[in-house]
Amino acid sequence: MRKVIVIGSGCAGNTAAIYTARANLQPLVIGGHEPGGQLSLTTLVENFPGFPDGIDGPVLVEHMKQQAIRFGAEYVHGQVIDADLSGRPFRINIDGQWEEAATLIIASGASARWIGLETEQKLIGHGVSSCATCDGFFYREKKIMVVGGGDSAMEEAIFLTRFGTEVAVVHRRDEFRASKIMLDRARANPKIRWVTRTVVDEVMDVAKGVVTAVRLRNLDTGESWMRDVDGLFVAIGHIPNTKVFRGQLETDADGYIVSKGGARTSVTGVFHAGDVQDRVYRQAVTAAGAGCMAAIEAERFLEAQGH
Ligand SMILES: Cc1cc2nc3c(=O)[nH]c(=O)nc-3n(C[C@H](O)[C@H](O)[C@H](O)COP(=O)(O)OP(=O)(O)OC[C@H]3O[C@@H](n4cnc5c(N)ncnc54)[C@H](O)[C@@H]3O)c2cc1C
Repeated sequence: MRKVIVIGSGCAGNTAAIYTARANLQPLVIGGHEPGGQLSLTTLVENFPGFPDGIDGPVLVEHMKQQAIRFGAEYVHGQVIDADLSGRPFRINIDGQWEEAATLIIASGASARWIGLETEQKLIGHGVSSCATCDGFFYREKKIMVVGGGDSAMEEAIFLTRFGTEVAVVHRRDEFRASKIMLDRARANPKIRWVTRTVVDEVMDVAKGVVTAVRLRNLDTGESWMRDVDGLFVAIGHIPNTKVFRGQLETDADGYIVSKGGARTSVTGVFHAGDVQDRVYRQAVTAAGAGCMAAIEAERFLEAQGH
C-alpha cells in the first residue's frame, strides 16, 4: 500500500509530489491524459514568480517533476479509470491495475472547453487561449476576440479591453447566460464589439503557426466572412476532471470538488489540490500553492494515523 497517491501531474500534483516526497512519503504520481497538465499546452509563462524573463510552460512543469523525482516521487503514465473511496485504504484503478493508498491527493485539474476545431487545437498557445489573466498581456494594441456568452466570457472580455485595441465577443445566441450585472458592465465598455448569432468555423493561420484571422458564420443567414484577429480567447467553460469520483465525493453542480476547509474533501484522508476545486483563480501559482496545502494536510493526517 502506498502512503500517498497523487492524481495528476500539473502544477498542483507536482507541487504536492515535491512536498510529500520531501516528507519522505514516496508519493506515486499518476500522469493522466495530459502529463504536465494545462501548462504543457502553452508557451511563455510570464506570471509564475521566480522567472524574471518568463519560462516556457512545458519546461516549468518538467522542472517541477524533476524536483519531485529528486526527493523520491515515482511517476507513472496512465489514467485513473475507477476509484473506491468507501473505506481506507482507498483503491484506485490505473488503466486496469488497482493500487491502494492511505491518502489520496486529487489534482486532476479542470480542462478548458474548446470550440472543437482542428485549427483551433493547432494554435493553442500561439494566439488561441482559454485564460485572459494568463495571456492578455501578450495582446497589447492587438485585435482580440472572445468566444462565449457566460459570466467568464464577459469577465475575460472586460479584462482584455485593458490590452486590445478592440475586443469582439462572438456568441452563438442573442441572449446571454451571463448575469445582468456582468452583461451591463460589458455592454457599457466602448471597446467591446458584439457579434451574435455567429460561430467560429476556422482559425487562421496554421501554416504560419500563429493566429491572424478567423472565419465566422452567421447562423441565420449562413453568410461566412473573415475577421482579422491576433488573439482568440475561448471562454465557454471548464470541465473538472472528477468523473471517476462522482457519487463518492461531494462535488458541486458543475463537478468541482467541494472543499471542506483547507485541502479537505468530504472524504477523510482524500485531499484536493488546484483547478479541480478552484473555479475562481485557476492559475499555475495558486494550483502550486494548493498542492503544497494538500501535501501538508496529507502528511499530518498520516502522522495522526500513525503511518
Ligand atoms: C493555454 C493555457 C495557458 C495558461 N497559461 C497560464 C499562465 O501563463 N500562467 C498561469 O498562472 N496559469 C496559466 N494557465 C492556467 C494553469 O495552467 C492552470 O491553472 C494550472 O495548470 C492548474 O494546475 P492543476 O495541476 O490544478 O491542473 P492541470 O494543469 O489541469 O493538471 C491536471 C492533471 O491531472 C491529470 N488528470 C486528469 N484526469 C486524470 C485521471 N482521471 N487520472 C489521472 N490523471 C488525471 C492530467 O493529465 C493533468 O496532468 C494556462 C492554462 C492554459 C490552458
